Amino acid sequence: MQKFRYLKGVTTLNLNAEVCTGCGTCEIVCPRRIFTVSEKKAAIIDRDLCIECGACSQNCPVAAIKVDAGVGCASAIIYSWLTGNEPSCDCDSGSSCC
Ligand code: SF4
Ligand code: SF4
Repeated sequence: MQKFRYLKGVTTLNLNAEVCTGCGTCEIVCPRRIFTVSEKKAAIIDRDLCIECGACSQNCPVAAIKVDAGVGCASAIIYSWLTGNEPSCDCDSGSSCC
């Protein structure tokens, strides 16, 4: 799964390094290995790998990470993998984005 990339420059992922305490939780929970932590600060390695699952923001103890989870094409595709149904998101109904 690591080879798959999200659309370039569209993820809502945002890290406030000023607030980060360097606990390392985001580095552990992110399924795409997007974070690295050194000297008590998290950093984003490659934000375009983010699938907006929300695990990092839900587990950050100081709310240093914000992401709009559960929306868009990535969420629709993951849901389709889990349910076996065709992916369907809230994009224009006439498009074939997913
Ligand atoms: S939203 Fe999910 S994929 Fe994106 S950085 Fe957070 S844990 Fe990783
Ligand atoms: S989970 Fe939050 S506080 Fe912990 S390293 Fe990541 S951004 Fe920093």
